[in-house]
Amino acid sequence: MPPNILNIHAYKILRVEESEHDYHIRTELAQSPTHCPGCGHARLLRYGRNEQVIRDLPIHGKRVGIYVDTQRWRCQACGKTFMEPLPAVNAKREMTDRLVTWIGQQSLRRTFTSIAEDIGLDEKTVRNIFRDYVSELERSIRFETPTWMGIDEIHIIKPRCVISNIRSNTIVNLLPNRDKKTVINYLGNLDGRHEIQTVAMDMWTPYRDAVQAVMPEARIVIDKFHVVRMANDAVERARKSLRESLTPKQRRGLMHDRFVLLKRERDLNDKERLLLSGWTANYPELGEAYRLKEAFYGVYEGMGTPEQALARYAVWQRSVTPEVCDAFADLIRAFTNWQPHILAYFDHPVTNAYTESLNSLIRVMNRLGRGYSFEALRAKILFTEGAHNKTKPKFRRREAAPTVGYAMFEMVGRASFGQDQHEVIEAAKNYGADISTLTRLIEEGKL
Ligand SMILES: [Zn+2]
Repeated sequence: MPPNILNIHAYKILRVEESEHDYHIRTELAQSPTHCPGCGHARLLRYGRNEQVIRDLPIHGKRVGIYVDTQRWRCQACGKTFMEPLPAVNAKREMTDRLVTWIGQQSLRRTFTSIAEDIGLDEKTVRNIFRDYVSELERSIRFETPTWMGIDEIHIIKPRCVISNIRSNTIVNLLPNRDKKTVINYLGNLDGRHEIQTVAMDMWTPYRDAVQAVMPEARIVIDKFHVVRMANDAVERARKSLRESLTPKQRRGLMHDRFVLLKRERDLNDKERLLLSGWTANYPELGEAYRLKEAFYGVYEGMGTPEQALARYAVWQRSVTPEVCDAFADLIRAFTNWQPHILAYFDHPVTNAYTESLNSLIRVMNRLGRGYSFEALRAKILFTEGAHNKTKPKFRRREAAPTVGYAMFEMVGRASFGQDQHEVIEAAKNYGADISTLTRLIEEGKL
């Protein structure tokens, strides 16, 4: 008999055929059933056979089919017929359990097409296994609900909603779109949603409406980043409106130097300062837009109370001149529409560390390989094992073990030794996928 290359001893190997790409392994079950699964009776009769082909893990790079001549049995006591169960075979699919597990794990690392090719299955089967694997992960891996939640946009094929934990710099979910209904559905089903104190978001009305509908007690905060970048957008708008009046050469020059206009004044080196003064001297509107951009950053500098910030903003707004007010119209409108939430930042500032790490992740996202669906990319981000931010259960010294009779009896009577109890009370917590780790894995091509 050929050696058991399957290493599943419930099967007896009858013959192994090898071709260029495949192994065909003929087997039979090492043991016949002894009892009827229905009534437990032991008198069984053979009742026809059926050959099944079970797919297994590749061996030596070749696809594997296991052929089992499966016997149907009939119970003489209750009359029921049944196929003998196939050990180590997945109940839903004609595949070994270990193949299903392997495909699930691989589906977070590789494209479905390449896995399908290795096994000799169609892509649809791989996708179905992936879905089952991910729903199993969703059931078994629970992320802590953030008390400080971030809701932002991330581009994965199209705009998606990314839910993060600001305190731990982690991602806890990705939603397929940014619709109010989607966000309401997510938040409405979230355990512990009433413990969410603060939600930081970009200025996207469906997010605000969803949070106000589901968790009216949570404070909405607009991160500084989303507001001040509108001042940079205004400078860009001023530059573009100037283009008409420039020669092609000047236009290229201004395009080339625009980074200087977007930089903070205090960060300019001497050469850049010279470039800036050249442009602003020749084009006063550009100089005006630059001055207003810098002054708008000033609304955030010095922090203070929301009232102080509002007072700084009012001074700023009065200083906007008619020449550039079109360029700043969007910023002024946004500030008006979102004022309470923009000012809430001064009570609850979102950390720069969080904003910067999320922005880095958003920037590198498009490096994630092509050929992946949103569902696959989402699963990679959320469930890549090494990226989780987990706490270990707290170390607690065990109670000194009682040594004498009565005390010992009491311990057993409590039916639980100290250690077990601690494991229940102080279970490890998982805060989600660490944003900086994800960014690094993507940059290194490891995700
Ligand atoms: Zn029976």
